[in-house]
Amino acid sequence: MHDPRDRQLGMHRKITRRDFMNGVAITAGAAMMPWRLIAGDSSATDKSPNYYPPALTGMRGSHPGAFDVAHSLRDGTFWDSAGKPEDTGETYDLIVVGGGISGLAAAHFYRKAVGEKARILILENHDDFGGHAKRNEFRAGNKTLIGYGGTYSIESPEPYSAISKGVIEELGVDVPSFPKYLKRDLYSAGRVPKIFFDKENFGADKLIDDPYPFPGGETFDLAAAGPNAWDHFLAEAPIAEQARKDFARLCQEKKDYLPELKPDEKEERLSRISYAKFLTELAGQHPDVLRLYQTISQPLFGVGIEAIAAADAAETGYPGFLGMGMQPEGLENERKFFFHFPDGNATIARLLVRKLVPSAMPGNSATDIVTAKADYSKLDNASSPVRIRLNSTAVRVRHIGDVTTAKEVEVSYSRGGKLYTARGKNTILACWHVVIPYICEDLPVKQREALHSAQKIPLVYTNVVLHNSTSFQKLGANSIYAPSGYHTHVDVDLPVSIGDYRCPSTPEDPVVLHMSKAPCQAGLSAREQNTIGRMELYTTTFETIERNIREQLSRTLGSGGFDPARDIVAITVNRWPHGYAYEYSSLWDQEILASAEKPCEIARKRFGRIAIANSDAGAHAYTDEAINQAWRAVGELTKS
Ligand SMILES: Cc1cc2nc3c(=O)[nH]c(=O)nc-3n(C[C@H](O)[C@H](O)[C@H](O)COP(=O)(O)OP(=O)(O)OC[C@H]3O[C@@H](n4cnc5c(N)ncnc54)[C@H](O)[C@@H]3O)c2cc1C
Repeated sequence: MHDPRDRQLGMHRKITRRDFMNGVAITAGAAMMPWRLIAGDSSATDKSPNYYPPALTGMRGSHPGAFDVAHSLRDGTFWDSAGKPEDTGETYDLIVVGGGISGLAAAHFYRKAVGEKARILILENHDDFGGHAKRNEFRAGNKTLIGYGGTYSIESPEPYSAISKGVIEELGVDVPSFPKYLKRDLYSAGRVPKIFFDKENFGADKLIDDPYPFPGGETFDLAAAGPNAWDHFLAEAPIAEQARKDFARLCQEKKDYLPELKPDEKEERLSRISYAKFLTELAGQHPDVLRLYQTISQPLFGVGIEAIAAADAAETGYPGFLGMGMQPEGLENERKFFFHFPDGNATIARLLVRKLVPSAMPGNSATDIVTAKADYSKLDNASSPVRIRLNSTAVRVRHIGDVTTAKEVEVSYSRGGKLYTARGKNTILACWHVVIPYICEDLPVKQREALHSAQKIPLVYTNVVLHNSTSFQKLGANSIYAPSGYHTHVDVDLPVSIGDYRCPSTPEDPVVLHMSKAPCQAGLSAREQNTIGRMELYTTTFETIERNIREQLSRTLGSGGFDPARDIVAITVNRWPHGYAYEYSSLWDQEILASAEKPCEIARKRFGRIAIANSDAGAHAYTDEAINQAWRAVGELTKS
């Protein structure tokens, strides 16, 4: 390591992150054998007792080796060297492609519909189950820390359906009990939300009280602005004086910026202009307010405020709508039905796995699950009616014989560089829409086109474990919005103690920092931004991300005594090139929203013995949607 800055940042330090080159683990042959990528034991396979993917650090989410097969299918090169599949001789009542919450819920519903003896195989290309609902575990000293690598919480802008609510209840999660698990010790000592302005974009590195923290779920009362936040912001924020005053006006005054319009006309107008335009053209905000707020929307929408509709901003609770008569209903719903487990909704996935393969998940409650250690070696056991086969990418799904009369579907999948087949009476594709046309070539052309047209929103959820959070304490910070940061949002993980798990309670305790980033490029359509962001994610090395993390934290927290070379224990970057399901936007998809049948509805049609689940099928990036779509797909196969 020759770069002195790299030394200061601690790029040479041994921390819990594996060493990566261009996003791929350096372990010999690792890219060919993702199923061998086990922390501390590179020879463990997913049948071995040492196999425990939640403890892996480094590049997670869509980890190296998970997507090569799917990409070679997309590129038309897979079958050139695939060889002849080996028939496993296995037959099932149902084969599910995709081990995310939708696939796991589909297996659950299927058993309820046809009985617990139904034989089910779930194929998942990643080394862990849960899909976006991903658990990250860390060791810091003698303590295990748990973080969420994807899905953060039970929440939704829409009320949960009776079906999805029913599943949550059946799994034993008592959603209204959440406040009793939320520990406020760390927050009672004056930690408040902050904004970090950087020198390159705002002329000075400055950490200022955030006077209008982003509202969200139950965290809102913890994340309330500090008592002198407006004074601090108005006096110190490194933006034009007029911009500071404008922003205060925007957040506080009850003004109707479209007084001449009736409520429905107002709604219509706001659904067709961007929030950025609303701010400048209707609310008369100084251009610096746009620089301040450009990336506020990225974690939720995957794009900046120039690409989201003003109506969506109003619904989300962004400032400017107090006098517009538009209630943020979504926010109210989220607050009413909210639960955050330390690993996010990975707990929902784990509870589903406990129902499907009880021997793989010890315990019997939705609180003891938090520290339960999954036994991955039991997931794919011939004696169990349900088998979950990880590291297995489905590459071809086709009826045996004509679709109208076929009695079985053959599913071919690639695992450890070899090709296998299994048969199922029914199949549910609970994988991403964009993948389906490549693995199910017999689908009608119109349906394939609709599947192809789906988009996914790329995201990065990074967890950084620190020896302690004393720098946050010294700076009085609990969360930091960085308008032009590499990661735009940095939060001390929501403190939740549940079951045997204890979150940090003093600043001296080790802590998980959650950092999020949505790669995108302002100025393009939302879909184009998503595509470019996805490419960026696939080509950015872990080393680059680590350097950015260290640099950002060093500059943000340095005045609080933070030393990146000394204080960082572990880094896990959960990369999600195919993140949120794309939700149709009134700004970009007016035609689709007005159409009698939306692409997601055409795309999800049942085809013979094949049904389609996944949150893409509802174009809604929430856990409840993944469950609702699983229920619909199972109903299509079992009710005829
Ligand atoms: C970073 C992030 C944060 C989120 N936060 C929240 C939140 O706080 N609350 C909320 O309600 N929702 C949240 N969501 C959305 C929510 O996670 C999803 O809607 C839901 O988990 C999707 O579940 P799914 O099973 O439909 O899809 P996925 O979780 O994507 O699962 C599908 C699985 O299929 C696999 N697959 C694809 N192709 C194949 C193949 N050929 N063979 C085998 N397997 C295949 C995929 O790799 C994936 O693991 C978040 C999403 C992301 C990305």
